[in-house]
Amino acid sequence: MRPMLEVRGINVTYGGVTALRDVSLTVAEGSIVSLIGSNGAGKTTTLKAVIGLKTITRGEIHFNGERVDALTAPQRVARGIALSPEGRRVFPQMSVADNLLVGAYLRRDKPDMQRTLERIYQYFPRLVERRAQMAGSLSGGEQQMLAIGRALMAKPRLLLLDEPSLGLAPIIVDEIARIITDINRDTRMSIILVEQNAKLALSLCNEAFVLETGAVALSGPGKELLASDYVRRAYLGI
Ligand code: ATP
Repeated sequence: MRPMLEVRGINVTYGGVTALRDVSLTVAEGSIVSLIGSNGAGKTTTLKAVIGLKTITRGEIHFNGERVDALTAPQRVARGIALSPEGRRVFPQMSVADNLLVGAYLRRDKPDMQRTLERIYQYFPRLVERRAQMAGSLSGGEQQMLAIGRALMAKPRLLLLDEPSLGLAPIIVDEIARIITDINRDTRMSIILVEQNAKLALSLCNEAFVLETGAVALSGPGKELLASDYVRRAYLGI
């Protein structure tokens, strides 16, 4: 079966400096794929290339059998890709409910949108209690939940999650990890999870890719990488 997403040998540069070099990865329908790597390895840049916030200078990106690398970000969202960005980036002066509605701006199917909203509130009951509250007044964990919920409002088939655990207390990280697993299990939505928390990322995923200085250094099933001596030394501090 063709993978849902195929990234084939892409390069990305920032002002002439290469950030990604010949990066290839695939995401099977319904799977969770983790991207791990240290600061500056190119994880965020990979997500930006997939959603269309960064132009590739070489290679191809295919989504559901269609070449998408020349499409704009909104066009890719319309085809079923959504991003929950690093650092949460919610709109602080807007309510929780309005932040969620922003995520649905390309959708025209109002009744179905309402169902998605209810579903998101089921996954994130903390957001229900705070739906009228300004997003800027939420805790870090709640803002992260809101950022994920906003991406889900687009009803994606592929969800890109950039560092959902960043700066959060372990108990909140566990809660978010459980919700990510539930969403994937219930909806068969594919997920690319970018994480510096390698242990978390490898234990949640089916497949993982290790990025080092803009290139894929290693890939394989999450469980295999968790057991690999190299990964344990370099990323798990064991
Ligand atoms: P982090 O966890 O720190 O976000 P990352 O693995 O996501 O790291 P990227 O943010 O993708 O890494 O960065 C990859 C490379 O591209 C780094 O060398 C970084 O300095 C560079 N880079 C990223 N964004 C820009 C930018 N806007 N302008 C110039 N260089 C950039």
